[in-house]
Amino acid sequence: MGNSMESQRDRSSIRVIATYSGGLDSILAAVLMKRLGFDVLLLHVQHLFSTGEVGRNRLRDAAKRAGLSVRIVDASEEHLETIRRPQHGYGQGMNPCIDCRIFMLKIANRVREEEEAEFVVSGEVLGQRPKSQHLKALAIAAEESGLGDRLLRPLCANLLPDTRPVVEGWIRKDELFAIHGRSRSTQMALAEEFGVTDYPQPAGGCVLIEKSYAGRVRDAFRHLGKDEVGLTQFQLFRLGRHYRLSDSVKVIVGRNQSENERLTELAGGRIRIDPLNVMGPTTLVEGCPTEDELLLGAALAARYCDHEGRTELQMRVVSHESDRTVAVAPLSPDDPRLAAWRIG
Ligand code: SF4
Repeated sequence: MGNSMESQRDRSSIRVIATYSGGLDSILAAVLMKRLGFDVLLLHVQHLFSTGEVGRNRLRDAAKRAGLSVRIVDASEEHLETIRRPQHGYGQGMNPCIDCRIFMLKIANRVREEEEAEFVVSGEVLGQRPKSQHLKALAIAAEESGLGDRLLRPLCANLLPDTRPVVEGWIRKDELFAIHGRSRSTQMALAEEFGVTDYPQPAGGCVLIEKSYAGRVRDAFRHLGKDEVGLTQFQLFRLGRHYRLSDSVKVIVGRNQSENERLTELAGGRIRIDPLNVMGPTTLVEGCPTEDELLLGAALAARYCDHEGRTELQMRVVSHESDRTVAVAPLSPDDPRLAAWRIG
């Protein structure tokens, strides 16, 4: 137990930042702290791979039901640097989970200082994700985030070294838990006890783990250089079919109407190809294609048009410099180059 002056401190005067992914564990950790009498502020760190606006509204609703305020911080741009250069490497895809956890906690520490909070609470459970939530990884995350002993993981705190809230006597060990592993039974029981019955799920599996998405990230890092791969690129990796025609030229072909619309929105300085007179995809060409490569891109786009056996299609090619029409023969679906060019 810490010194008696501190232990007598009124918990309602102790501000706590609770990291909030939207998952059950994060909300349980926050509700536990509230029930123990602390002044809790939820923090949701938004990044490119977290939930969208609809999901954020669900997070806000769940926070409201729990009687907690939530602050949302958009850290998308900063998060990209973690993906480009993780100090602790990637998981099975291009997911730098250990660095990603450190990054989230760094933001939490920054918000802690801004909000004049004493410590940060996280819903992590030891061993729940064997590769990023083992003992060493949790210790690294606390240290490298700058939080050090100002981090409390109440769901598994009794399996970890004591941190400041316990040492100072603000909280007793018998108020904390020793949850370990992937079983959710203790959390489900706690959820029932706390009346946390309706909570949003965290965003589905992270795309960085997916083989095809990870392949597109790797390809862009290799051909463009990590620093050139920005937010728009990461958004484009989710859309369409990707083909690399050469070291400097990539073609992205939409797969449906909503992807076509999104590709048009994200086109930026890229060349856009749309079919004329037939239904077909919106296609983007990245890089500086030669005329032959551009015509190849148009033929590739034509392969996915409803050309009904026509041997030649008119395709509109729009760039910053020009808006013109080219005539191309659609590539055959059996063209072996398609498989060779395909990324992810
Ligand atoms: S799964 Fe994705 S979002 Fe989650 S910690 Fe890993 S890299 Fe970050």
